[in-house]
Amino acid sequence: MLEGAELGREISRGQAYAADGRVVSLAVVPGRISAAVSGTRPSPYRVLLEVHPLDPTVWTELLSVVFERPAARAALLRGALPGELARLIPLDPVDVSIQCSCPVHDAICKHAAAVFFDFAARLVDEPLLLLTWRGCEADAITGMLQIPEARTA
Ligand SMILES: [Zn+2]
Repeated sequence: MLEGAELGREISRGQAYAADGRVVSLAVVPGRISAAVSGTRPSPYRVLLEVHPLDPTVWTELLSVVFERPAARAALLRGALPGELARLIPLDPVDVSIQCSCPVHDAICKHAAAVFFDFAARLVDEPLLLLTWRGCEADAITGMLQIPEARTA
């Protein structure tokens, strides 16, 4: 494992990598972010950030908030992630499994850190990617919001 100072250095290098546009591709599917990061070698490093899907009880709670609060529902339909829903989505770094094709193992490397920063930046424009990563396609959420049984205010 990397020591604290070394870990901090990898994370700030990763932030600089993301700012330099070195994350050349990033795709999000339920449970997984896969990305390519341009490093010191000619071919990009492959990074995978895997996370367990949210507990079903969290989804149930999330949906009940959506159905009870029209503003939250309207925000989701616009592609925004309301704060009361974001708070239901805990993200502890230890829950994330990190893999990178570079030689750094057992710890976060600058490539994986760059992917975290790049993903966070994408969430500003596409917040529902967070739901996708945690196990639910945004289309499935908006589909659920449109079912006739959904309560409306
Ligand atoms: Zn790496």
